[in-house]
Amino acid sequence: MEYFNTLEFAQSLDEADPLSYLRDEFLFPEINGKTALYFTGNSLGLQPIKTGEYINEELESWKQLGVEGHFKGKRPWFHYHKFSKETLSKITGAKPGEVVAMNNLTTNLHLLMVSFYRPDTSRYKIIMEGGAFPSDMYLVETQVRYHGFDPGDAIIEIKPREGEYCLRNEDIIDIIRQNAESTALVLFSGVQYYTGQFFNIQAIARAAHDAGAYAGFDLAHAVGNVTLNLHDDEVDFAAWCSYKYLNSGPGNTAGIFVHENHGRRTGLPRFGGWWGHDEQKRFMMEKGFIPMEGADGWQLSNVNVLSTAAHLASLAIFDKAGIKHLRAKSVNLTGFLAFIINEAGSDQISIITPANPEERGCQLSLVIHQNAKDVFDYLTRNGVVVDWREPDVIRVAAVPLYNTYEDVYRFGVLLRNALTLLPAEDEL
Ligand SMILES: *Cc1c(COP(=O)(O)O)cnc(C)c1O
Repeated sequence: MEYFNTLEFAQSLDEADPLSYLRDEFLFPEINGKTALYFTGNSLGLQPIKTGEYINEELESWKQLGVEGHFKGKRPWFHYHKFSKETLSKITGAKPGEVVAMNNLTTNLHLLMVSFYRPDTSRYKIIMEGGAFPSDMYLVETQVRYHGFDPGDAIIEIKPREGEYCLRNEDIIDIIRQNAESTALVLFSGVQYYTGQFFNIQAIARAAHDAGAYAGFDLAHAVGNVTLNLHDDEVDFAAWCSYKYLNSGPGNTAGIFVHENHGRRTGLPRFGGWWGHDEQKRFMMEKGFIPMEGADGWQLSNVNVLSTAAHLASLAIFDKAGIKHLRAKSVNLTGFLAFIINEAGSDQISIITPANPEERGCQLSLVIHQNAKDVFDYLTRNGVVVDWREPDVIRVAAVPLYNTYEDVYRFGVLLRNALTLLPAEDEL
């Protein structure tokens, strides 16, 4: 698509956008009495207007039904983990039985490692991207130590080539091949939190399997953002959080995927709890753990209903919009964002996120060559919510659910002002 740097052009794209109505389903923060230009859905998605209603329905059930709410009411709590399956399966390209919402992300990764990181003295290494999200680094470090290995030896981090920010797919595949004998697990993010690079999940999973290793993915920045085909790509396991692009609220319930090939292996080692136990026999309170088939068999506890209600409120919007339509809009919107950023100052800014739409989601990471922190502060003072990552990176995410082309245009005006340090606070 050919883009133009004018307000009229941006507004014409919004008018032609069949998803533009979705913006009204969200609540926006205000800064200095004006609606914020919110570009931080990669960190915390906005609150859907209906979230309060969904939570209140459960408070009402609790009030009116007490313990009976487990089996009565609009959404009986006993079955609560099932209500998100259909939508989560569409978002992740999975079968409903392969996904379940539970716990928090890092917790879930540890639980999945119990089943999928089973090192022995010859095959014990974990291959991951260099500069992974800190929680993932600590996850891997402590798992390796827990099994009695030395992180310095057992963890292979793939770094970008000299002078580059992103990883090349061929380098990832080569390193997996080179370590085929000793690798137990390849653990990657889907979309890299810092650079915004969308990795080739299918290629990485294949290479891991060719090496005789499992392939797991942390989809924190991928879920609700890019097209995922976890089942067909034969990913072994994955986990995500729901407060970034899934807009479920701070720290809210996370989710897991376990490929049905493994979901059927009820003998696979795991940690058990009553919610992962055979549903028909759950209340017999007998000895002998019999895991449910599918992802459900990794659940431990009964569902945190009040917060999961917020998750359902947001998933209902995804259902209405359709993940494919969202992704189609996202590609255009992010294309426009990249264009606008280059218009604002291509000599002063480098976009380190890949230019190819197939290798990125809706986040662009900008390196600002001079006065980076001043630029960030200027944007913040002027009602733009973006985020700062040391030493000189600003992350900007144009989320197709609630960001408009006009938002992007206005961001460009402020960015240009920030770069030229014009005091144009009242221009908009
Ligand atoms: C956001 C994020 C997390 C956060 O982990 P929690 O367990 O939800 O606190 C972990 N990993 C990645 C890659 C993330 O982007």
